[in-house]
Amino acid sequence: MPTKPRQKKAVPPVAPARPVSRRRPAAQATGAEALPAPDAVQPDGSLPPRPRRKPAEPKKTAPSARTSKPRTDDGPSAVAPRNMKPAEVVQFLRDLASAWPDAKTELHYTGTFSLLVAVVLSAQATDASVNKVTPGLFAAAPTPQAMVALGEDGVGALIRTIGLWRAKAHNVVELSRQLLALHGGQVPDTREALEQLAGVGRKTANVVLSVAFGQPTVPVDTHVFRLANRSGLGRGSSVVAVEKALEQRIPQDMKCESHHWMILQGRYVCKARKPECWRCVARDVCLFPAKTSPPRPTARRA
Ligand code: SF4
Repeated sequence: MPTKPRQKKAVPPVAPARPVSRRRPAAQATGAEALPAPDAVQPDGSLPPRPRRKPAEPKKTAPSARTSKPRTDDGPSAVAPRNMKPAEVVQFLRDLASAWPDAKTELHYTGTFSLLVAVVLSAQATDASVNKVTPGLFAAAPTPQAMVALGEDGVGALIRTIGLWRAKAHNVVELSRQLLALHGGQVPDTREALEQLAGVGRKTANVVLSVAFGQPTVPVDTHVFRLANRSGLGRGSSVVAVEKALEQRIPQDMKCESHHWMILQGRYVCKARKPECWRCVARDVCLFPAKTSPPRPTARRA
């Protein structure tokens, strides 16, 4: 019997092989769930728990000058390598006292209420700029009652040349209202009560307690903070830390006046950008590691 010629089976065209991405497994690339490795399946058939991702660490931001650790390198930001010893503290303050024998606040005021208002107005403004507006303000409103009657618009019109005048006008009227409602129109003599008043923070309360009531507080402003850290009078990385260090270290009978000595020394000699150590009366006892020399005389052209 003749044999039938075998028919060739049609071979389906072979699809070209898909290139497999090297970046991701094929299952992930197609969106399908990747199978677990056989030995990863638990005896009860369940999948092992997925490893948890570590939460991202918060970004590190540059610390502010006020809260950063004091620097011990050279330059105006350097601080004393240690705190002064008690005898050095006394000598340093005596030197400052000799430089500023009549030191007192440079703000103009006529009584406790006007002192409180002037200190509130002096936040982030110079004493000189505040002294330009307070005569007109205190003439128009010498008492809390008169300040409330003058109102925010009236106060604002008189203090417009100082920074943040809108907020300060609000605070001055509001604190006057609070004095009338809570303290019979009188300025209280405790830190807690003062800090409850509008616009009154720790430093303002300390100034009023020291200047108006003679209490041994040590208000720390930017000048005192800088001077205390540079000299070693009382080092600290925050205003409150410096305040506490100074309160502990300054003898009781020097506390009230030392505040004025330190402000004036910081403002006019131990300046922020470059301390003028060569003419500082306390340079021998000061522990600042980068004391400055007098500027060289500039050569004159012939
Ligand atoms: S010597 Fe005087 S001016 Fe210089 S850092 Fe000390 S306190 Fe400031």
